[in-house]
Amino acid sequence: MLKNKSITIVGAGPGGLTAAISLAKSGYYVNLYEQNNDVGLRFNGDFQGLENWSDEEDTLEILDHLGIKINFLCHPYSGNDGWFIGPKGEKVQVKTSRPLFYLIQRGADEKSLDQGLKQQALDTGVKIIWNEKLESVKDDFVIVGTGPKAADAIAKGIVFNTSIKDIFLGFIDNRIAPKAYAYLLVNSGRATFATCMFEDFKNEKLYFDRSLNTMKSVIDIDIREEIEFGGFANFFSEPIISKNHRILYTGENAGFQDALWGFGIKYAMLSGYYAAQSIIHNQGYDELCKKNLFPKLQTSLSNRWIFAHLYNIGYSFILNRMKGMEDVIPLLRKHFNSSLSKRLIYKFARRWYHTRLIDKQCMHEHCDCVWCRHGKNAHAELNRLLKTI
Ligand SMILES: Cc1cc2nc3c(=O)[nH]c(=O)nc-3n(C[C@H](O)[C@H](O)[C@H](O)COP(=O)(O)OP(=O)(O)OC[C@H]3O[C@@H](n4cnc5c(N)ncnc54)[C@H](O)[C@@H]3O)c2cc1C
Repeated sequence: MLKNKSITIVGAGPGGLTAAISLAKSGYYVNLYEQNNDVGLRFNGDFQGLENWSDEEDTLEILDHLGIKINFLCHPYSGNDGWFIGPKGEKVQVKTSRPLFYLIQRGADEKSLDQGLKQQALDTGVKIIWNEKLESVKDDFVIVGTGPKAADAIAKGIVFNTSIKDIFLGFIDNRIAPKAYAYLLVNSGRATFATCMFEDFKNEKLYFDRSLNTMKSVIDIDIREEIEFGGFANFFSEPIISKNHRILYTGENAGFQDALWGFGIKYAMLSGYYAAQSIIHNQGYDELCKKNLFPKLQTSLSNRWIFAHLYNIGYSFILNRMKGMEDVIPLLRKHFNSSLSKRLIYKFARRWYHTRLIDKQCMHEHCDCVWCRHGKNAHAELNRLLKTI
């Protein structure tokens, strides 16, 4: 039990901020340590998506239950608003009965998710200590939400201005996004285009150039004032959620990340919320995660195993199957939630999958790839932090 109502949280990402908001609303004094001088600095104003297919409840209702207000850009995109492009150049538009995802922005810009959550945290009385890494911990409980430690998947992209209308495009083709996908998101004259990869990181530039050419062959688009961005995500077959039931890990730092496609924001916010609830109601954080997050997380690893073995021929097959459906949301939901077959596949998948703490291909000196730019620092910093706790 907590002796006084003071809590330390490390990392002001969606996980740490959601935990902070929940705790502060319940009367806790929250000290939130952030290594940078603002939120979202891991990102560069790029658009991302809050997926809206894996739960019965709409994502906005889930955020409402978490006590999160929509004070940031959050724009619904349904199946009609975009296309999926297959490896043979096939263009598939899917039908959805509700938004497929909500477009949000990451980074330090005014309308970003990060700024919105920061404002809500400040409004509820959270004290954010900027430019600070934790050196020691005196509080009874600590929540650590410091983001990914290593690059199991990377993304390379651009953010730019354009005159085309709001649209999304998703590309599935191993020649431009090995075992992953590339995407274009356009909203109100701003756009994000990126390619993601699960392997062969050293050729990120090659894949990016190829994917950009593919995108330009599909859509007539003007690209103005472009700026580059990159990023990485980590996936664990088993999340590490707590130490001595006192240090609670949330978000990607714990390994809460969708192993299929990297939709980690919802996981980060939910795990932050559960960490807070476990403290407020003196419940086991491990149990809350095991009940509410593990089944989907394990299913996502099974899906990764399947996806990695489909190759381009399988991607075309799936896209064609989705083409004629009245509503793809129920099918997606079924595949993102636990079932007997997914539990069986998980037994193989967890042995097959190894988190790539270091991709040796990318450890060369003077390399400017995403891993060498960010990954080594993030990993070293986290190790240092954990040693000091
Ligand atoms: C290019 C890219 C595109 C993505 N697209 C999507 C998408 O479309 N949809 C989706 O759901 N997910 C997406 N993701 C994943 C999503 O961004 C992450 O899963 C999510 O941000 C994880 O949240 P978090 O709170 O765990 O960590 P983070 O968002 O990484 O926040 C961690 C915070 O902790 C701080 N920190 C780190 N170490 C310390 C320390 N030692 N002391 C103090 N502070 C520290 C960092 O500065 C940072 O502010 C994408 C990721 C990338 C890289």
